[in-house]
Amino acid sequence: MTNIPPEIQPYKRHAWKPITIDGDGDLTASKFAGKPWLGKDEQWPKCPHCQNPLQFFLQLNLNTLSEALKNEFGSGILQMFYCTNEELLCDCDYEGWEPFSDIHLIRIVQPEGKAQDVKIPENQEFFPPKLIVDWQYLEDYPNYEEATEFGAELDLNLDELFFDNFPIEGDKLAGWPLWVQGIEYPNCPICGERMRLVFQVDSEDNLPFMFGDLGCGHITQCKYHKNQVAFGWACA
Ligand SMILES: [Zn+2]
Ligand SMILES: [Zn+2]
Repeated sequence: MTNIPPEIQPYKRHAWKPITIDGDGDLTASKFAGKPWLGKDEQWPKCPHCQNPLQFFLQLNLNTLSEALKNEFGSGILQMFYCTNEELLCDCDYEGWEPFSDIHLIRIVQPEGKAQDVKIPENQEFFPPKLIVDWQYLEDYPNYEEATEFGAELDLNLDELFFDNFPIEGDKLAGWPLWVQGIEYPNCPICGERMRLVFQVDSEDNLPFMFGDLGCGHITQCKYHKNQVAFGWACA
């Protein structure tokens, strides 16, 4: 374990790594791929450009997160769908890396009504499902740029090892975003407030997908308008 420099210790945040097993769980489970919770009369979400069913990336049941996060991100099921059409390259043409691009769907559903007996569309390849069975608790720290933005006075000669290890890479819940380029939080479309990290979706971790060239993506949320959720990614 790297020594945490004292000037960065005040910026410690909790983060949780998903522990997964192969296979799908029930419709309201937290998982990668598999069957999402869909309302009774709802269609599987489609890409508005190529009309193909969107790839289901993940869902998090906010009601069953760790005690430390109870109510932090609201209630319901946070879902992420994304167009992975490789022939039409929708994510290039329609800027899938941009928060609020319409080739992805990020939303929170309330699984109160009747769910449907979801059938995975058959006309394309879907990722193999992975069920989140537990969370590994970790301590996370911001990158240099973000720590200084928060007012940390950092020695430029700070242990380089430190910034090799933080922010934590891979898929994770909460913590600090691993920014590949600069700090890129979107602003809430309602109040303009900077949105905060809910979940980091990294290339080739739990999902066999690469955002550009090993890019890293972030699901963010307005802390005042919890239904305002977004997704963006960047690569080097
Ligand atoms: Zn598409
Ligand atoms: Zn807002």
